[in-house]
Amino acid sequence: MSVPAPAPASGGAALEGLLADAHAALPDIVALRRRIHRFPELGTHLPRTQQTVLEALGGLGLEVATGSRLSSVTATLEGALPGPAVLLRADMDALPLDEDTGLEFASRVPGAMHACGHDTHTAMLVGAARLLAARRGLLAGPVVFMFQPGEESGGGARHMIDEGVLETADGAGVAAAFALHVTTRFDSGTLHLRSGPTFAASDRLHVTVRGRGGHASSPHRALDPVPVACEIVLALQSMVTRTVDVFDPAVVTVASIHAGTTSNVIPETAEIRGTFRTLSPAARQRVREGVHRVARHVAAAHGAEADVDLEEGYPPVVNDADRTAALYDTAVALLGPGRVGLLPAPFMGAEDFSFVLREVPGSMAFLGARPPGVPPEEAADLHSNLAVFDEDALATGAAVYAAAALRAGPAPAGGG
Ligand SMILES: [Zn+2]
Repeated sequence: MSVPAPAPASGGAALEGLLADAHAALPDIVALRRRIHRFPELGTHLPRTQQTVLEALGGLGLEVATGSRLSSVTATLEGALPGPAVLLRADMDALPLDEDTGLEFASRVPGAMHACGHDTHTAMLVGAARLLAARRGLLAGPVVFMFQPGEESGGGARHMIDEGVLETADGAGVAAAFALHVTTRFDSGTLHLRSGPTFAASDRLHVTVRGRGGHASSPHRALDPVPVACEIVLALQSMVTRTVDVFDPAVVTVASIHAGTTSNVIPETAEIRGTFRTLSPAARQRVREGVHRVARHVAAAHGAEADVDLEEGYPPVVNDADRTAALYDTAVALLGPGRVGLLPAPFMGAEDFSFVLREVPGSMAFLGARPPGVPPEEAADLHSNLAVFDEDALATGAAVYAAAALRAGPAPAGGG
């Protein structure tokens, strides 16, 4: 983080007036956000949201393409100057829960809510497209605006990569990628980032313990899977603390145990479901092997069997050191040093921007959006039915996205 990446020659001038222009555009950004918020859509099929984004991008002179396997939008703005392509990403999907915020623009769709703030990301990225279209003369290289469905489930980013979001007309491909995520953990309008692992890898575990059913009064004539399952749950926690490096953390959570149907029948099987989160390939492999070993052998110790099924989820989000330093410096130049902070630790949640950062160096940062006057410990977290974000932060977010495209990418060849 200490060595700033060289900024393009136009870098200083490019940020002039950007934040003020973003604030001037805030009513439009908020109106778009609320329009999306009222009608949340889930997964990779978001036709209404896609249409809203397409309309909002109209007239900006962007080259727009839509996905074939998912309702994505990829829009490209050609800079007036030559330079490497920079990708900016926003996700567009909501979560399957009822909204209880009581906001005037609350979700009108039962069982769906923009509780993770993806509506704010989409509106900020449209705002950035407007800011950048007005600054095309200062822009070196193309900017690719990636509007992505299916972040919460479905791996939308991976599908967009398969459909060519990282490819560019000149064949060079996208050279740097940036994304923002709102959070109520930080003060509104502040930016927080770190280099290296920032979000965890997320994998699912499903263990089926196979015993033998029977009468609850005669366990010796059956093979009760229930105590075996309980031992496995506890042994998994011991496995993590005894085999994974404490400085390369892992979390294993068993979130569901299910067995039996009534009080006087020993069931045939018991099911354990959960998730494990890791930040490195080494820890991920260790936990994978550990779950297999512990489940099978604890079951064997009692004469039972365990089927272990591990489902690979998103890889970890790993921020590139140079691009993170460049984004940090850009944000400080834009917002002032008091509004930009270094994240002390990664989050063990998962984010599928990891698929993009596996291919292209870049950085994902948190944008504080806690409503003013709400103490941090009382603010509803992401994914809560009560999650509320301060919309003033959207001006900051739109400006940061735009500034990232103007200044945080690699320097044009021969420039810098
Ligand atoms: Zn999210």
